[in-house]
Amino acid sequence: MPKKVHHVVRRAGIRLEDPDIEIPVAEDIAGVPGIPQREKDVAFYSREYPLETQNVEKAADREWSWSVYTPEVFEYRERHEEANKPFVEAAAVTGEMEPTAEPVGRDITEEIRRKAYELGFGDVGFTRYDRRYTFASKKRWVKFEHAICVALEQDYAQTQSLPSLEAEFAHFGTYETENAQCLELAGFIRTLGYHAQVHSPNDNSAPFLPMFVEAGMGQLGANGQLLSPHFGSRARLAVITTDGPITYDKPVDYGVHKFCQECLVCADRCPARAIMRDKVWWRGVEKNKLIYDRCRPVMSKYEGCAVCMKVCPIQRYGMKPVMEHYVETGEVLGKGTDNLEGFSIREKGYFGPGQLPSFDRELFDFPHGTKDEWLFATFKKKVEENGEVTAEEQTEFIRGLKQILAKGTTTIGDE
Ligand code: SF4
Ligand code: SF4
Repeated sequence: MPKKVHHVVRRAGIRLEDPDIEIPVAEDIAGVPGIPQREKDVAFYSREYPLETQNVEKAADREWSWSVYTPEVFEYRERHEEANKPFVEAAAVTGEMEPTAEPVGRDITEEIRRKAYELGFGDVGFTRYDRRYTFASKKRWVKFEHAICVALEQDYAQTQSLPSLEAEFAHFGTYETENAQCLELAGFIRTLGYHAQVHSPNDNSAPFLPMFVEAGMGQLGANGQLLSPHFGSRARLAVITTDGPITYDKPVDYGVHKFCQECLVCADRCPARAIMRDKVWWRGVEKNKLIYDRCRPVMSKYEGCAVCMKVCPIQRYGMKPVMEHYVETGEVLGKGTDNLEGFSIREKGYFGPGQLPSFDRELFDFPHGTKDEWLFATFKKKVEENGEVTAEEQTEFIRGLKQILAKGTTTIGDE
């Protein structure tokens, strides 16, 4: 028997000329707009335990990742880093750039939205730049109070081949395009007489996702990704901040928060068993947490993995058909089918519903923390195990430390 519809969400089409879409939200999965959160807890954690970018906090394993890439991935990642570097560097200094005209003195929200669509973004939203999420090392860098959230869809067909080199082309290629488009959009805002700072998706100033949710562009899925109405999690996110006059969008309840608990396909299909089925409260927000130490090595070794993106019905079929199917049948579209749940992993083969690969225990033994934390931890372990260290080991330690001091503690790159 069909379910009762609690409310219908109306959203603009994916391109300027496309009609609006309507998404029905069943009564039993209706929740709050955005995400359940406790404001006091979010504020407390941001003050006492500010977030830090993985480029710093997880720099040891980010560097290690390169050692488990296949030669093809290694070579492609090198090419991508080279191609992307000028964009990341250009974005880093946009906060210092002055407008190129006098301020137009009117609300520029719709002009920016139109320009963003013209540039190729699939969705755009506006909200306050939420400083509570700013990374500790970026606090002084962020200059302006309004956030323009832009999402660029990555290729559909390539994404369905996850995990594969082909899908990595889509993943990283989308970042290259997005960085260039962000710089262009920021330039456009400057011609309207206002500042515009590009927060590159590859050198984030904060986790962008909470601001996208606040801007009504989707909700957080159990897979830890933004599930947006048009392309689910098949999008790459970036933010531009400005001091221009804009009007904020509002968070929306698409029903995703509760729908995920009915679905949980990503948790069931994650090859590393890294996604928690139950939601927990974390830093003031209710969500399904991901166990980083299980995900990271599988993701690094197997072409970015992202099975959790591939098997998400909202990514594969779109939010509208998935929610309509749920209203009509009470079931999750595609759940239990090879079409949705099947995936292949290099050297391991094909895995249909109910089947998962296994991995050697050694794969999960990898460096943790910042680069210097890991250097100290390994040195300490040697002292603990042997009671002393050799002159050679001391020299090795000092060489490592000098290298970190010379190269810095950050490993900038993409995920
Ligand atoms: S990337 Fe792979 S290992 Fe990591 S959570 Fe997603 S499915 Fe699991
Ligand atoms: S696979 Fe299902 S549970 Fe996971 S994010 Fe997508 S809709 Fe939510």
